[in-house]
Amino acid sequence: MAVNTRKCVGCSDCVVACQTENSVPIGFCRDWIVEVNNGTYPQITTEIRSERCNHCDNAPCVRCCPTGASHIIAGGIVLVKKTECIGCGACIASCPYDARYPHPSGYVDKCTFCEHRIKNGMLPACVEVCPTKCLYFGDLDDPNSDASVVLKKNRYKTLIPEAGTVPQLYFIY
Ligand code: SF4
Ligand code: SF4
Ligand code: SF4
Repeated sequence: MAVNTRKCVGCSDCVVACQTENSVPIGFCRDWIVEVNNGTYPQITTEIRSERCNHCDNAPCVRCCPTGASHIIAGGIVLVKKTECIGCGACIASCPYDARYPHPSGYVDKCTFCEHRIKNGMLPACVEVCPTKCLYFGDLDDPNSDASVVLKKNRYKTLIPEAGTVPQLYFIY
């Protein structure tokens, strides 16, 4: 997924859509908004980021999971099998992005890239509702996917690359 921080207005529609689509319990979230001011006064710009799980290629949450509940599926999406999760919280502690939360039902939850939607040909809920169309989703192995096309044309970064997790959430800035 690519996020254009220059187009995001911080409206949180993506957050509300995710909570509704995925029945996220009140008080928790799978995605959230971060605002960062860059530069020095009066030359200041504000970067607004819609953040979520980075679906890391080298995911510490998968490596440390003692039951195999946290896993990577074909295509690269990181998921949690809730029937195999014992709620130990090792994955929450290992994630440098604070992307997971303890679901009140006893398992750990996080962004799934709306796998239940994309396997039926739909976009993730957050991508679909964004009023400024600043979220782009697609297969990076396909040069014509929305995410590949927008990343080809823009400068982008990942978050905390020094952690070595190889994130798959890209921020255009
Ligand atoms: Fe930004 Fe789009 Fe989310 Fe609004 S819906 S906060 S514009 S990413
Ligand atoms: Fe795991 Fe965190 Fe990376 Fe998501 S962002 S795959 S929860 S380490
Ligand atoms: Fe939520 Fe789906 Fe967007 Fe992930 S991809 S933040 S699960 S709406």
